[in-house]
Amino acid sequence: MSKHYIGHATVKNVKEFDIDLLVKNLSENVKLRPIIKEKNDEIKKLLSSYGFTFQKLFFSPGDREILVDDKNKTLVCINPISIHPRYGILEVFIAYKNKMMLENIIKIIKKDPSIGKLKEGTYIETKKISRYDEELKKLSPHGKILRDENNVNLCKKLYDDKIRKLIRNIISNFEDLPLPLDLIKTEIAKTTEEKKIVEKICNDQDLFEKKYVFVCKKCGYPSFHISFRDKEAAEKLLASSSFNCPNSECDSDEATIKEVFGVKRNVIKILTQGIWLEYMIGEILNKEMRKVWIGVMHDNDELDVVGVGLNKSILVECKDGSFGQNDLYSLMIQAGDIHADVVLIVTTQPVHSNVKATLDKYKEKGRRIMKIIEGDSTKIKNELNKFLSNLKEKFINTFFTWERGRFIPDFLESEEEFF
Ligand SMILES: [Zn+2]
Repeated sequence: MSKHYIGHATVKNVKEFDIDLLVKNLSENVKLRPIIKEKNDEIKKLLSSYGFTFQKLFFSPGDREILVDDKNKTLVCINPISIHPRYGILEVFIAYKNKMMLENIIKIIKKDPSIGKLKEGTYIETKKISRYDEELKKLSPHGKILRDENNVNLCKKLYDDKIRKLIRNIISNFEDLPLPLDLIKTEIAKTTEEKKIVEKICNDQDLFEKKYVFVCKKCGYPSFHISFRDKEAAEKLLASSSFNCPNSECDSDEATIKEVFGVKRNVIKILTQGIWLEYMIGEILNKEMRKVWIGVMHDNDELDVVGVGLNKSILVECKDGSFGQNDLYSLMIQAGDIHADVVLIVTTQPVHSNVKATLDKYKEKGRRIMKIIEGDSTKIKNELNKFLSNLKEKFINTFFTWERGRFIPDFLESEEEFF
């Protein structure tokens, strides 16, 4: 059962809502069988043979019902949640294989006269999303960079650990100075594989800028102070002017034209500021979350990634470098400010044990979920996916098991929407 739909509607008057009517409509119109009622009837019958009578249902403390078909293709869980003697929320979980079936079920639920409009997602998710849409409106400097599709494309190319390592080495040795390919290869690439990668990335016009410079025929010294984007323009100038070798120990006046490669400015920015990591995390979260914000401001704080989904809000701090004690303090303040349920620290460097110990203390004190994910990008991707699938499994379980905590919204701004 791969696909599922989760939705909720407000119940204006809990007393008016009749789950039996909704169940009857579902079983008649889409041929689903209410299994909780079925089991309860069976137990009641069994117990009545001892001479006792029972009015109440046994398996459904919240008056929930689970409906199934006989082909294991469709499953519906209806959870009416009272949050006040008068009003409540109806949550539905629908697992399906056939989209038409899903649409029919939604149609029947929407027709129920005692509930409000059925919206996708849980009540808590919807509330958090509308709150964050308001509070996280402003983009951070990183968020602004990511508005450009080209920069997003660069981020994706920089997910590769090997490519990042090589470009980082080039930047730390030569910054954005344009260099001949053979020089980059000998100075930066250690192995045959690295030499191949260097050749590939240097010729990638998104990552490197190709230019042409004059190089002394005798000593090979390049004259970097003048460079050309166009080879023909370089040839023209060389033919019409004289060359003096910039190497003071050389007296040559003959030059050839050579291709040189320099790391693009945007690549340097996206790499050194860890913007690629923020985008990567946002992309992974997007698969499971209902909404994700990458690079936003909350008051004066820059938040890396925020997501809402699986009935939770997640704040992620990304560090393509070391994450220290002070980073943790400010992150915890930010998490408190936006009431994040989950805090993730994602870093490409190992986190110091002192920082881990402080995090453990925070964990003991609060009920917020906190986790450190450290390693190269492959490891980060795997661990984050694993974390999200655990979170998802727990969340789906709450529809079928009795976890009262989930049903109490941690904030209810006004009663207005119920009337
Ligand atoms: Zn020379």
